[in-house]
Amino acid sequence: MELGSTVRAVRSRRVLVGSEVRPAVIVIKDGKIHSILSDCNFSGHAAYEVLDVGDSVVMPGIVDCHVHVNEPGRTTWEGFWTATQAAAAGGVTTIVDMPLNSIPPTTTLDNFHEKMREAAGKCFVDTAFWGGVIPGNQLELRPMIQAGVAGFKCFLIHSGVEEFPHVTDCDLHTAMKQLQGTGSVLLFHAERDVHQTTEETGDPSQYSTFLQSRPDVMEIEAIRIVTDLCLQYQVRCHIVHLSSAKPLQLIEEARQAGAPLTVETTHHYLSLAAENIPAGATQFKCCPPIRGHANREQLWSALKAGQIDMVVSDHSPCTPDLKKLDSGDFTEAWGGISSLQFGLPLFWSSASKRGFKLLDVVRLLSQKTAQLCSLDNQKGSLAPGYDADLVIWDPEREFEVKQGSIHHKNKLTPYLGLTLQGVVCATVLRGRLVYRDGSFSPEPLGKHLLIPVRHNIKV
Ligand SMILES: [Zn+2]
Ligand SMILES: [Zn+2]
Repeated sequence: MELGSTVRAVRSRRVLVGSEVRPAVIVIKDGKIHSILSDCNFSGHAAYEVLDVGDSVVMPGIVDCHVHVNEPGRTTWEGFWTATQAAAAGGVTTIVDMPLNSIPPTTTLDNFHEKMREAAGKCFVDTAFWGGVIPGNQLELRPMIQAGVAGFKCFLIHSGVEEFPHVTDCDLHTAMKQLQGTGSVLLFHAERDVHQTTEETGDPSQYSTFLQSRPDVMEIEAIRIVTDLCLQYQVRCHIVHLSSAKPLQLIEEARQAGAPLTVETTHHYLSLAAENIPAGATQFKCCPPIRGHANREQLWSALKAGQIDMVVSDHSPCTPDLKKLDSGDFTEAWGGISSLQFGLPLFWSSASKRGFKLLDVVRLLSQKTAQLCSLDNQKGSLAPGYDADLVIWDPEREFEVKQGSIHHKNKLTPYLGLTLQGVVCATVLRGRLVYRDGSFSPEPLGKHLLIPVRHNIKV
């Protein structure tokens, strides 16, 4: 079957249907799942070509709702063409682009339109967009919701780029009033400057120096603000990239008190540990920081207990010079880790050892992430009526992460040389074969996903 062609049916001995893995044939019509037949009921061979994948697992495509594509404006860092090819190669069928690090940032209706124009014709997988909340842009929020953003992100601390300033408490109240009743969601980079923050005085090439400069208390203090706001306004709130396990209790208490609050963590916090980061290895730098081994295990427990809702990549690349690899200075290096292509195998390599099942992978990497951006009526599930977005992969097979097989624009990643478990063989996007064994559809087949307004809102 040729890349880019329409797949009418996929057969496998291991299809994730409902809560079980069993032989099945997925029949696809007009880009959507038409029906799922048990293998013995299937007799459509004559009518159409069947993609028979044998023992490979067929699951809903991954929905990665935290990706920094950086286009327009910082296209030397990443771009829609390369990011979405990397996504397709990793079994990711939907990405949601973050509003910052592109120039302009997605903080006004005009900027959102510019973003969509720039992304047009460059996406190999489907793409939705987050808007941003910055000081003074409150009147842009409702128009952006009407135009189809998935929700908004804000920072409670310096974002790293000048054109996306962080918000004050006062800005937050203003924004919350705009979001109330819209059904939209506000995402928080939950770190806040605290008085105890120690100056970076140690050796800047030691990871511990950087780690000490961003202690757990910065996340705790930020999350206290989020839970208060969430309870007060009853606007959906979401904590992105939780790194510390310490605020989990605070989050749990707020939820029990009725806060519509969700929380994600990332592959790097679940896969890596501070103790193992070599001196000068700034490809490991991100904010909030990767913490210690014990903290990592607490994140896994929280994931198992349902206290953390979903897992994303927070793919955030830059050019190699900004990583300051020559000096290995953690304090000067750009913070951000590239991993979009490797999310599924990274997660599975660690999760399978901890008793997680394929069903958990679908819930944490596809369903919950689709839900967060109100895409759960078309993405993230294998059921009739849903988009025929499929990842076809071998969870038992291993591979080594090699430079030559990385499709991100910049190849620097902390996972280089690592052996991971789970090989993505093919990716199907709305019934079209967009990736198979290292090659892509000849043309980008992804589309923009605009989130319909579900509430009557005044602009
Ligand atoms: Zn962030
Ligand atoms: Zn991010």
